[in-house]
Amino acid sequence: MQNSPYPKRQRSLFQTMEAHHLDGILFTQLENIRYLCGFTGSDGALLLSPKGAYFLTDSRYWTQAEEEVKDCQIVHYKKKLDGIASLILDLNLKRVGVEGPSFALSSYQYLTKKIGNGTELIALEEEIKNIRAIKDPQELSLIQTAIDLSTKSFSHIMQLLHEGAIEREVALEMEFFIKKKGAESTGFDIIIASGHRSALPHGRADHKRIEKGDFILIDFGLRLQGYHSDQTRTLICGQPTSEQAKIYQIVKEAHDFAIEAIRPGIPFCDIDRVARDHIQQQGYGDYFGHGLGHGIGLAVHEDPVVNGENKGLIQEGMVFTVEPGIYIPNWGGVRIEDLILVTSQGAEVLTYLPRDLKII
Ligand code: ZN
Ligand code: ZN
Repeated sequence: MQNSPYPKRQRSLFQTMEAHHLDGILFTQLENIRYLCGFTGSDGALLLSPKGAYFLTDSRYWTQAEEEVKDCQIVHYKKKLDGIASLILDLNLKRVGVEGPSFALSSYQYLTKKIGNGTELIALEEEIKNIRAIKDPQELSLIQTAIDLSTKSFSHIMQLLHEGAIEREVALEMEFFIKKKGAESTGFDIIIASGHRSALPHGRADHKRIEKGDFILIDFGLRLQGYHSDQTRTLICGQPTSEQAKIYQIVKEAHDFAIEAIRPGIPFCDIDRVARDHIQQQGYGDYFGHGLGHGIGLAVHEDPVVNGENKGLIQEGMVFTVEPGIYIPNWGGVRIEDLILVTSQGAEVLTYLPRDLKII
């Protein structure tokens, strides 16, 4: 049996508490709860403190919590915020951090009132932003399993992708395959966007038929045992025009140059810039509007973000997407997205579908 990963993860937060003079952190965000104690249900709270780790939940989840939650004491409540307040008071905690970006203002106000003047609630953001950013071996193997199934689902729909096929029908078949083969769900609405619709970076599959000359942008992923995959390939129906071939090549180069530039210690914004500068130099800078990539794990989009603003430094063990694109309104678009793991030397590409323009 594998060792429980939770004590180590919890310990790293004790360092955060020490650095910021906190004597506890309250987690209510489900991915963080799962990461820190294994609970996969849809409601609960986790209070970490040097005095102990406590998972709090109500009667709907008592059995599930007994089965799943590790390295924590389980505390029952009838009303969540009341349960949290009593525990904070029982433990006599004075400065408790909460997840700033997701903790509701109404909960903050209610809890503040309940715990009284003796205890301060601190909204954390930067301090806990990257807690899941570096993946441990157990997580890497789950991500790889998700990628493997996702890759199979892509091969599966290849037989359905042809001139005249309806985007939505292909997407539904992919979704059915993904779920039948054991995934919990697709990671997000599968994007199959052809022709002029491929210029919509987040265009969901529609009732449009694939026509000759269309780019077909397919962005797909799934969740398996909590962990996500996310990849994009752009295909073409029939021979590409010279402009289509050129644009595909520019995106592919931007993608490759960015991956080559990744190494620990480099700011994320520099990697974004490598891809963006290339697209810009080729004259398509106005058509690449989104950031280069995002972290992935228990959430499909999580820290770190890879964009022009993030001056944070890349670290070994991080997993994120690299997904440059060019989208020309009413004409079409290309995106190529892969998942990479930062190694001590550079980047290992975890996704492995061919990257050359595939003609169907
Ligand atoms: Zn994607
Ligand atoms: Zn993505």
